[in-house]
Amino acid sequence: MTDLSPRRFPELVPMARPTVEADAEMELAVKEILQSGMLTNGRYVREFEEAAGAYLDVGHVVAVSSCTTGLMLVLRCLELTGDVIVPSFTFMASGHAIDWAGHGIRFADSNPRTWTLDPDAVAPLLPGAAAVLGVHTFGVPCDTGPLRELCDSHGIPLIFDAAHGFGSRYRDGTMVGGKGVAEVFSLSPTKTLSTGEGGLITTNDAALAAKLRMAREYGNPGDYDSRFAGLNGRMTEVSGFMGVHALKRFSHWIGVRRSLADRYRSGLDGLPGLEFQAIPAGAASSYKDLGIRVDAAHFGMSRDALAERLGRENVSTRKYFSPAMHQQTAYRDVPAVAELPVTEELASSMITLPLYSHMPARVVGEICDLIREIHATA
Ligand SMILES: *Cc1c(COP(=O)(O)O)cnc(C)c1O
Repeated sequence: MTDLSPRRFPELVPMARPTVEADAEMELAVKEILQSGMLTNGRYVREFEEAAGAYLDVGHVVAVSSCTTGLMLVLRCLELTGDVIVPSFTFMASGHAIDWAGHGIRFADSNPRTWTLDPDAVAPLLPGAAAVLGVHTFGVPCDTGPLRELCDSHGIPLIFDAAHGFGSRYRDGTMVGGKGVAEVFSLSPTKTLSTGEGGLITTNDAALAAKLRMAREYGNPGDYDSRFAGLNGRMTEVSGFMGVHALKRFSHWIGVRRSLADRYRSGLDGLPGLEFQAIPAGAASSYKDLGIRVDAAHFGMSRDALAERLGRENVSTRKYFSPAMHQQTAYRDVPAVAELPVTEELASSMITLPLYSHMPARVVGEICDLIREIHATA
């Protein structure tokens, strides 16, 4: 039987969209870059690195072709041996970078309220580990204080996959980007600031930054005597310009994004069985994603059923991160070193709702109303 009832949203509401203002300035710059012949290694990538360093208040920024590449290069440049500890509740690329850099993986559990790497779960996994790779999940910064203490006490580096963290603030009010030995942002289209594809590595270690610049250039310092096996990890000039351009408007857009997230929070407030991510006092999320946890018993319907009902009305959602990394085929041979009950619970109950910086506030309101109606008929 064909369902002829009209959908609530006649057009698909996307889960995420890049906010790119293709204005006259952009048009002119892209044309100028294409005509200049300097498609890479030119002035715009350097300009973007400087502007990002000022915005993030961090000593060194190295632009790369993607966050995955950046993480691989950081791990390679730190010359570590042993396994890397990472949350299983993250996007697959966090683990892939560790694997490509030649390390074993130890999956750790997450905190049930903040959904970020749980320091108490990390502690027992530390003996013999090479590094800890925390993830600022959906834009909520990791619990850096305890993680730093644990890493310091074992003499290993604390690195952050900051793919979701552009625009987030730590509890002390400083920008995400300055607390890890290195932090790596993603600028791919679903992230809070996009350059098409791209990534930024931030660090306050000048020697590491210099090594990373060599690493993204095949390990070639310029004399064609490569010092180690680097990669082509360069950012293009067009992406560099997109970064400069987007960064000028970023404070505005991240403010809009936060107000949309607040609208979701107030619009769904009081509905039983829905839980939002806890943001530690003093911290600020970039809201890369707006996730909710669906407790089927109290909401009256499972996460999967809610996703299906929303999809029927043209509202796209994602089941981030399901399956969790340790449940994925690629990682089925990784030795289990810990139970991951919170991760498994989150993977089975999480859904992310549509959110992008230029999303009309009215649509957020209508999605909240729709979820209320779905709940009422559950
Ligand atoms: C998107 C993402 C990445 C990968 O970023 P790319 O720039 O696409 O390589 C890594 N980690 C997390 C948590 C992500 O969400």
